[in-house]
Formats: sequence, structure tokens, C-alpha cells
Amino acid sequence: MHDHDHSHDHHHDNHYSDMQARVKALETLLTEKGLIDPAAIDAIVETYETKVGPRNGARVVAKAWSDPDFAEWLKRDATAAIASLGFTGRQGEHMRAVFNTPDTHNLVVCTLCSCYPWSVLGLPPVWYKAPAYRSRAVIDPRGVLAEFGLTLPESKKVRVWDSTAELRYLVIPERPEGSEGMDEEALADLVSRDAMIGTAIAGSPKIPAAGSQEVSA
Ligand code: FE
Repeated sequence: MHDHDHSHDHHHDNHYSDMQARVKALETLLTEKGLIDPAAIDAIVETYETKVGPRNGARVVAKAWSDPDFAEWLKRDATAAIASLGFTGRQGEHMRAVFNTPDTHNLVVCTLCSCYPWSVLGLPPVWYKAPAYRSRAVIDPRGVLAEFGLTLPESKKVRVWDSTAELRYLVIPERPEGSEGMDEEALADLVSRDAMIGTAIAGSPKIPAAGSQEVSA
């Protein structure tokens, strides 16, 4: 499943957008040919909209902050370390965790389309799939981060990771100051979806995590 995003400027005489019309046409055709069961498709969408979301990724980050052995495992083999917490499946088969450090900030994009680690972050936000983000994240990452309200010191390097169908990235933000002694549950509350894409950093224990948690297909 690799959702290429074709942004043509077609006009339709119905209420569907170009993309919705294409999806509807494909779903109807596949159903008529008996290749898919619409109920099964609904179940998959329902799962990713309600059961799988950024909370999974936040639990991975909180564990990495709390358990150095787990953090090492995550660096070495993110797919296995993440699977050990029960987060497996579609669009998360091959994972790599990239750790922010005092020297380096990591940012994830899919320049080709919208590859995203569903198993840990749920469905991607609309902006992640937008042509503007996909092109500008590579050309001008600092400009993009500034628009998200994140201004990094010039001394900090920004590393941009281009996702593919084969490999998805999870950013492990730096553990915020003042979070010593917090348990994993409380730590996970500091980790927003955007912090795991790299368009935000972890929230401080006094200020809630930046970046909204809404899920948009
Ligand atoms: Fe993609």
C-alpha cells in the first residue's frame, strides 16, 4: 500500500474532490470485482482512526528516555524494539529511530508521496501529505520549522530523513529538562505527534506538549 498523491487540478461536477472521486471509483470497481470487502476496509480505517495513534509512538519515546537498554535496542533495531511493545503492522514494517541530540535535530518527510509510520503515529496529518511541506522540508527545513513555531539555534544541525515505502522514521526528541523522576506514563504526555515527526520538540513538564493530536486522513 503506497499512496501516491497526484495533485492535478481537475474539475468535477459532483461534491467529491479529485482524490475522493478516484478513491470512490477504485473502491467501487474492486468491490464489484469481488477483490475487496468494503467492511474489511472500514475496519482498517476505523483501527487507524481510533485505536492506533501518536500515543503509541509517545510510549516508545517515554520508554527510550527511561530505559537505556531499550534506547540502545531502538538505535540498533527499531523495528524489533517497537514490536516488543506490540506496535506492529502496516506501514511500520521497517522502522528506524532517529535521536535528537544537543547537536542535531531530525525532521521526517516523504518527498515522493506520504510514507509515514502508521504503527506508531496513526494516520498522517494533512500538512504532511501537502506538496508544500514535501518540497520545502528538504529545501528550507529551518524555514518550515519556523512556521511550526520552532526556531533552533544556528549551531544546531538539521537532518532531514526522506521516508520510503520500505523505511519509516520515528524521531526520538530530547528528554526535556525538569522531567527527572517522572514515570513513563507522565513522560509520554510530553511527546506530541509533531515532536515525533520533528516539527516540534518535546513539551516541558510545566508546558503541555506542542502540536495538536488530531488525526486527519
Ligand atoms: Fe511516500
